[in-house]
Amino acid sequence: MELKIELTTAPKELPNQDALGFGRIFTDHMFEMDYEEGKGWHNARIVPHHDFNLNPANATLHYGQAIFEGLKAYRTPDNRITLFRPTENMKRLNNSARILCVPEFDEEFVLDCLKKLVAIDERWIPSKPGTSLYIRPYIFSTDPYLGVSVGKQYKMAIILSPVAAYYAAGFAPVRIKVEDKYVRAVIGGTGEAKTAANYAASLHGDYVAHQEGFAQTLWLDGIERKYVEEVGSMNIVFKINGEIITPELTGSILPGITRKSVLEVVRSWGMKATERRITIEEVFEAAKNGTLEEAFGTGTAAVISPVGELCWKGESIIINGGKTGETAQKLYDTITGIQTARLEDPFGWVIEVPKA
Ligand SMILES: *Cc1c(COP(=O)(O)O)cnc(C)c1O
Repeated sequence: MELKIELTTAPKELPNQDALGFGRIFTDHMFEMDYEEGKGWHNARIVPHHDFNLNPANATLHYGQAIFEGLKAYRTPDNRITLFRPTENMKRLNNSARILCVPEFDEEFVLDCLKKLVAIDERWIPSKPGTSLYIRPYIFSTDPYLGVSVGKQYKMAIILSPVAAYYAAGFAPVRIKVEDKYVRAVIGGTGEAKTAANYAASLHGDYVAHQEGFAQTLWLDGIERKYVEEVGSMNIVFKINGEIITPELTGSILPGITRKSVLEVVRSWGMKATERRITIEEVFEAAKNGTLEEAFGTGTAAVISPVGELCWKGESIIINGGKTGETAQKLYDTITGIQTARLEDPFGWVIEVPKA
């Protein structure tokens, strides 16, 4: 398929690198591609960033057939542009597509379009330590139809947003509420897809947790509210008695690329890393008997997010004295070092984006 490129005639002024925040500022261009039954994916194009013109009956607005990805482009100290494991994002987007009955796409072609888009908007990639260009590919149904059914028309888009360092105030452990009332996903549902529905399901529980002064919610399994699943938009990892433990992918947990990378990095260090079901009771028990050494979230936005406190049914445990653990710090330094090419990449994870 051919990629059409229409460059903006009104390039925007670059934002102040000290006030980027997350996800509110967008670059000059975006990628778009359409799907129609019988015609397949077509009309791939890079165009100026613009609003969509949606029919009020747009099926996504009513029934939520929407999937997305999140990854970042980094500017290296020697001014090259890198992406971290982007083929994994393409693969996962197609997996989400299969789960949500969205038509699959050519991963290699879309990744190529993504690289071209990043190259065209290269000047938007910030250079301050910790900053990056967040990349949001997504697909949604565009059928103007109120019947509940699998759509026949779709749009794929990729938008770009320069973002601040996640830890503006330093690498600070967070307080997390273990949610024992609301659930995010159940086995047999859409939990392992990166889809709007999972976020809709988590909003209320997250809202209540924020009202109670917590930074995030730790979700338990949807059936017994017993097994640890994940945190907001991050997977969760524990270090108990020297061993790295993370919940196994049962179908209701999002298979994070950072989670997968963390497992590969700690194993390369010779640490034992296990994927298995783990109950919240076991975590609290380990805290009480002194074997819970660390807990941290993993995800593209923060990379590693140390957990300083977990609160479950009104009972709190403080982890590692509320301080960032040694493994969390070392993982953060290693993975961000590889992403920005400040460290060698023995895994072959980093792809360089050729400049336009
Ligand atoms: C995206 C996401 C993650 C983290 O995945 P990464 O690939 O590491 O960014 C974890 N949980 C949920 C629910 C997510 O949407």
